[in-house]
Order: sequence, then structure tokens, then C-alpha cells
Amino acid sequence: MIVYDKTYDVIVVGAGHAGCEAALAAARMGRSTLMLTINLDAIALMSCNPAIGGLAKGHLVKEIDALGGEMGRNIDATGIQFRVLNTKKGPAVRASRAQADKQLYRLRMKHVMEQQDNLDLKQVEVTDLYLEDGSVAGVDTKGGVRYLSRTVVLTTGTFMRGLIHIGLVHYPGGRAGDLPSIGLSDGLKDVGFEVGRLKTGTPARLDGRTIDFERLEAQHGDENPIPFSFSTERIEQQQVPCHIAYTNPKSHDIIRSGLDRSPLYAGIIEGIGPRYCPSIEDKVVRFPEKDRHQTFIEPEGRETVEVYPSGMSTSLPIDIQWAFYRSIEGLERVEIMRPAYAIEYDYVNPIQLHASLETKLVRNLYNAGQINGTSGYEEAAAQGLMAGINAALRVQGKEPLVLGRSEAYIGVMIDDLVTLGTKEPYRMFTSRAEYRLLLREDNADLRLREKGHDIGLVPESLYHSFLAKKELIDSELDRLSRERLTPSAAGEELLQEWDLVGIQNAISYEQLLRRPDFTCSDLSRIYPEIMELPETVREQLEIQIKYKGYIERQLEQVARAARLESTTIPADMDYSTVPSLSAEVREKLVRFRPDTLGQASRIPGVTPAGITILSIALKARY
Ligand code: FAD
Repeated sequence: MIVYDKTYDVIVVGAGHAGCEAALAAARMGRSTLMLTINLDAIALMSCNPAIGGLAKGHLVKEIDALGGEMGRNIDATGIQFRVLNTKKGPAVRASRAQADKQLYRLRMKHVMEQQDNLDLKQVEVTDLYLEDGSVAGVDTKGGVRYLSRTVVLTTGTFMRGLIHIGLVHYPGGRAGDLPSIGLSDGLKDVGFEVGRLKTGTPARLDGRTIDFERLEAQHGDENPIPFSFSTERIEQQQVPCHIAYTNPKSHDIIRSGLDRSPLYAGIIEGIGPRYCPSIEDKVVRFPEKDRHQTFIEPEGRETVEVYPSGMSTSLPIDIQWAFYRSIEGLERVEIMRPAYAIEYDYVNPIQLHASLETKLVRNLYNAGQINGTSGYEEAAAQGLMAGINAALRVQGKEPLVLGRSEAYIGVMIDDLVTLGTKEPYRMFTSRAEYRLLLREDNADLRLREKGHDIGLVPESLYHSFLAKKELIDSELDRLSRERLTPSAAGEELLQEWDLVGIQNAISYEQLLRRPDFTCSDLSRIYPEIMELPETVREQLEIQIKYKGYIERQLEQVARAARLESTTIPADMDYSTVPSLSAEVREKLVRFRPDTLGQASRIPGVTPAGITILSIALKARY
């Protein structure tokens, strides 16, 4: 091996959504960083859906942004249709989503990376880790060059031993058009990592010129598109529509006729696929009573005719794909530009990680993204950001940044992964967060901006505008609790309109705002200055006041759980010396090696009694 003549602080393997955030975070924290990827033209490429955000995923993007990551700004600059989902539901489950111009998204991210100080980019395949005394010290590459580094972050996505399936045809690939990563997963197995196999799939990309859009229902973006990033003032670009189409009984017959040549049903695919994102053949088999399935025909960009039929992923043979897509009304003449396919790939079970995303087996090695068994750009980016931050903090000799389950969806996801591991692709859902009312999209900056600033990722200018917003919210909340409407000052007409006739005492503005349908705009009739506050501040006032009781209750639950969460378990804990632990609990603790009592309490099979015994043993130890 030829050894490259520079030792980096952080090497990031992979330039997907995890790799980009990891490399930018480490470089922005002043660490000399090298990002290695199989294909420099595919930086931040969207392998599947050309969209960012969605339910729970939008929360992750906002959190990434609040901490100083790039994904939010990137989609704000390159999005072509923005929508807020669940607007009629409570604030905890409202979520932002945007269609991306796929090529622009990739190009802008590449530009940002190329402009970043302390960051080198190289196109090369990593074939193995280079270890010294049980710690990672660099990586070996296919071209025979060894790159040295104090820390390494692996973000290999769907590439490790990637195998693409279209019907009974299969061939190695990292995703369509990209080479697979061969060698690295064997290296990881040799070190002792438990490596498993997962599967995912994607629809065909269709030629928009051959679709009769007139016969489909158009779906437009929001009239006032709301940015993802707390630092984007407004979305300037023109928005484009998506279109809705449906399969029909004929489509389902065609699909059934191809099942004997489906790699999934013929038992050729061993990897486990995402349950919540089934292929169209899965939907047809699992829900035989349904006579149609919906698809959104989503543009892949402004300058291309390619469109993405969401929810129509398949690994059926190409002749079945031709017939089935053409059976959909409006798509009778459709031409496939890129076929649908499934891909199997290696992942590393994330129970082998600390909550910092450092591996338990090899010091200074961090894993992030799809390699940890997750699925989705946002899940990957969030982990990449945390791994990049923690690799940089390690080099700085500082404690890792670990977000709690009550602080961020990022904390929930990483805790789920490292505590429970995963046997199927993991994606984020709001239902995974027990403190959802605290973890809203709208308050991601209030939860995390400070932390992003403390580690050096949020620049001073952004931090100051955040502090100004926070001060304004606090002072207005105080004012609203003090200012009162007296029955005499209100006047008969307003009392009637607001259903306050007969009240004897003055009522605070806060009490008024607590009423379900009462908004700042209503309050402006007696307090006009409120409309001069920024919209984001008014939104906080309404949410924080209306949901005060529920929020306080969740904060009490968090406080009750805090003792367990903050009690750490030493990495070398010898569970065989803890008396009275049942054999099952002992076996689970040895296998999962939790970092805290809180984490231990979430391992299935670890009983409350086991936690009490462990807690006593830990007290006795110190
Ligand atoms: P990726 O985006 O896969 O990037 C991996 C990066 O690592 C690439 O830059 C690659 O070049 C590099 N790399 C890999 N190995 C090496 C090596 N040895 N040396 C150097 N560089 C290396 N997500 C969903 O949410 N829903 C879906 O329905 C969905 N379907 C998908 C279908 C398909 C066919 C594919 C391929 C992906 C799908 N995804 C889906 C997943 C989504 O693309 C990923 O979750 C996301 O891109 C993962 O980001 P990542 O950064 O972990 O990895």
C-alpha cells in the first residue's frame, strides 16, 4: 500500500446524505476532513424518491438544520414543490415535505462541499479499514493507497455487496448506474461485526412526454411555501404540480401474472424489505380486496421529462413493468426511461454502536446512515451529522454529543437503533417518539440551536437572530399573561362575539389565546401590535399557550425518567458479579451492553425488577 502523506482528523467513507452531513460537520468544526466516494458525480444523489421531508422526516430535517446541518438549506434552494402535511391536525404531527429538483439538489450539495474549508474530496473505493491497537487509524482503497486518519465515519448506504434485481435478472450494483462496494463488509466481518442483509426497491422512472396529464388530477404545492431551514427567509422559486393516478383491477391481474418471475416471491431475495414501504406486488398480494392503489406522479426536476411514480416500486420483470405501468389510466402510452428494481445490501447491526454512533468493537470508528439498517435520506443525514460531530469532538478530546429521547427525534432514532438493533429497514415515525408534543417541527430551533452553537456548527449571525427570536417569545408570553381585558373596556359587541357576556373579572390575553379557535389575529382586535411580531413568533405563542397543560405534563414525565437516563453503566460492567439478576436479564444486558440505565430499561426482556437490581449494584460500585 502507498501511504498518502497527510493524516486527517476525520475520514468519511461515502458521499450520500449521511456522508455529506458528516463531512461538512467535521470540517466546519475545524477538523481536517477527507470524504471518499465511489462516484464524485453522485454526491447527495437521491436514489429513490425525489423529495425531502414528510411525516416525522420533516422533523429530522428541521433538527438537522437547527444543529447547523445542510439538508434544510439544500432543499430550500432546490425544491420545486413545498407542502405542509397534516395542517388540520395538532402541531406535534404537522410535517414539511418538498419535491426536489434531483440534479440541482445534488449539484448544490457538491458545490457547498467544494467550497468548504478543511474538506478534501476524492473518488476512490474503500476496501478495508486500517487498524492499529484496536483503533481505526485509516482506510485502504482499491487503487492501493492507504489514507490515515484519527477517526473514520462509514456511510456506505446500499452499496456494500449491493445486488440489483429486475425479475430473475440480477447483477452487482450500489444502485442503478453505480458500482457496488466489494470487500469492505468482509473486512468488517473479520473484525467481528455482525453484518446482515436488507432489501429495498424503487419504481421505474417514466417519460413524462408519454403521459396524458390532462386525464390525471393535479396536486399543487402550498400557496405560501414554508422553508425547511430556520435561516431561509422565503422560497422564491416557482412551484410545479404533481399528478395523481390509480392502478385498477387489470393492473393487478398483470402484476399477479408476473409473480412467478418476481425475485421476492421466487425466494431469490434473502434481505428483509421495508414493511411500511411495500412494493406494488406486495400491496396487490397483501390487500387482494383493494381494487386500486394511488400513485403520485412526481417530477424529477424542472429541466427533465423524467417522472417518479411514488408507491409503485417493484422488482417484477421488465415485460410485466411495461404492461403494468401502461394499464394505468393516463399512462397507456408510457415509456420507461429507467426500470424499477430491488436492491439487496449489507448492513451492520446497530446494537454494536454506542449512542455517539462510535462502534463498540473498534475505537474511533463511527457508522451512520443506511449502513445502520435505516432507510431514508433524512434518517441518514441526521445520523451522519451526529457521527461527524462526534468524530470531531473525539479529536478535540471532548465528550460526545448525545441527544436524549425528550430532546430530538434524532435522539429517539439513535436510541432505538443502538438499544434494540434492527432486523428490517428502520424509518422514523412520529409514533416512535413518546414525548411528541415536545418534539415539534416548529420548535426544533428552540430545542437544538444552542447545542449547535456550543459545538461550533451554528455561526454567530444565525445564533444572534435565534436569541432575538427566543427573547421575543419569552417577553411576549410574559406580556400575554399580564395584560388583561376588562369587561367594561371590551364593549358589549366584542363580549358577545367572543362569548364573554356575563364575565365579572378581567380575563388575561393568555386565557383568550388558550381557547381552541382563538388566534393572534383575533387578539389583534384589542392588541393590534401583536401582528407586528414575526409569524414564527406568533405561531410559538399560540402553540405554547394552547398546549401548555399537555406540555407541562410531558415535561414532568421527562423529569421522572431523567435519573435513569443520566445513570451511566461502565463499558466494562461485569454483569456476572451482579447478584439476583435473572439469567434472561443478564443475557440481554451482556448482549446489548447498554450505556445508561434508561437504555437498559428499553431492552425487551429487561424487567423493572432487573433495573432496580442493576441500579443498586451501580450505586454499590461507586
Ligand atoms: P447512500 O445515499 O446510499 O450513499 C452511499 C455513499 O457511499 C455513496 O456515495 C457511495 O458512493 C459511497 N460508498 C459506498 N461504499 C463505499 C466504499 N467502499 N468506498 C467509498 N465510497 C463508498 N429510502 C426511503 O426512505 N424510501 C424508499 O422507498 C427508498 N427506496 C430505495 C430504493 C433504492 C433502490 C435505493 C438504492 C435506495 C432507497 N432508499 C429509500 C434509501 C435511500 O436512498 C437511502 O436511505 C439514503 O440514500 C441513505 O443515505 P446514505 O448516505 O446512508 O447512503
